[in-house]
Amino acid sequence: MLSDKDRIFTNLYGFEDCSLAGAHKRGHWDGTAELMARGRNWIIDQVKASGLRGRGGAGFPTGLKWSFMPRKSDGRPHYLVVNADESEPGTCKDREIMRHEPHTLVEGSLLAGFAMGAEVGYIYIRGEFIRERQLLQKAIDEAYDAGLLGDNAASSGWRFDLYLHHGAGAYICGEETALLESLEGKKGMPRMKPPFPAAIGLWGCPTTVNNVESIAVVPTILRRGAEWFAGLGSKNNTGTKIFAISGHVNSPCVVEEEMAIPLRELIDRHCGGVRGGWSNLKAVIPGGASVPLLPRHICDNALMEFTWLSDNGSGLGTAAVIVMDESTDVIKAIWRLSKFYKHESCGQCTPCREGTGWMMRVMDRLVRGEADVAEIDMLHDVSKQVEGHTICALGDAAAWPIQGLIRHFRHEMEERIASCNRQANRMAA
Ligand code: SF4
Repeated sequence: MLSDKDRIFTNLYGFEDCSLAGAHKRGHWDGTAELMARGRNWIIDQVKASGLRGRGGAGFPTGLKWSFMPRKSDGRPHYLVVNADESEPGTCKDREIMRHEPHTLVEGSLLAGFAMGAEVGYIYIRGEFIRERQLLQKAIDEAYDAGLLGDNAASSGWRFDLYLHHGAGAYICGEETALLESLEGKKGMPRMKPPFPAAIGLWGCPTTVNNVESIAVVPTILRRGAEWFAGLGSKNNTGTKIFAISGHVNSPCVVEEEMAIPLRELIDRHCGGVRGGWSNLKAVIPGGASVPLLPRHICDNALMEFTWLSDNGSGLGTAAVIVMDESTDVIKAIWRLSKFYKHESCGQCTPCREGTGWMMRVMDRLVRGEADVAEIDMLHDVSKQVEGHTICALGDAAAWPIQGLIRHFRHEMEERIASCNRQANRMAA
């Protein structure tokens, strides 16, 4: 269990003052210029040594990503872009940072921007986050007024401007290249990669896009040392992590915990357990809507980290834990996610545009049992043709929940079809 002294987000619930004065009291913005005086390479090396992996879902090592940015400018400006377009169903962790700990993000943006040679940063915030945008803008304004942003930011000698950009509510703009398109004023459609944003990003300039939590933890890592962060969690899964637990638990919550905490401990300790007890658990989606669900027997030993979850057929994703008890119609739950991905597909590539709609329509019939058993295999085949054959990861995100359903609850799908057939036979008799 994470001890209080190791928490980064000590005001995650907003019980204390969220303003700059409150942030100062909690130790934020403490010695920022001294950290920057150690140099860009030192900051990147510290982030690398901490083992921090991106908190937006993919888990790519953050320090390594930063090191892809050119060391010297070829005349083009460098940009930092913070992805605050948190829209994945079940995911509500960055929202709490922006509401209650906005200065961790503002300070982190300055440090990350400096490390990558960026004098300008953009925070792209989800369209529906109205209050969060207001709170974050207030924090940015406070930082400007206090000389922490702008010319000679935090007395570091570095100029850094930070802008908040409000999205228009499309899920696909959380994909980093779609986000850049949107920021440029175009339709939010993902770009082919390569080239990657570190080479050609915003307005054709070197750009790094990072998740809110990834940036917000950086100041504390630099202040407390990479070894401290690396000493938490497990090998290749270091540090603290914000988990958002929803669904059939007694007290849904957002909580900062140590990476690699057992799933059962996370739910029992912070959520008062599964509704009706652990034996009443049916399945858990451990990492936001886009990862395959896990049935109870796998959840028994699950560790909330990238490695264990991917080794066991799922993923940590955004660490949004969706708990489903035995009362859940799990086929219907996955159908609902199919509907979401069908709705959010940008339509640019054929497997996703056609596949998400096709899968949703088959899932729609499977919910009612009005299908042939052979269609389960066909659905699986189609999901495999979508997975890995699209421009962006939305295709995978649409395919994986269905694959997880077929892998673990095929018996339930077959029983639904058999029951529907029995009822039809009775009606006919
Ligand atoms: Fe658009 Fe889907 Fe293709 Fe992504 S995978 S680019 S969302 S059509």
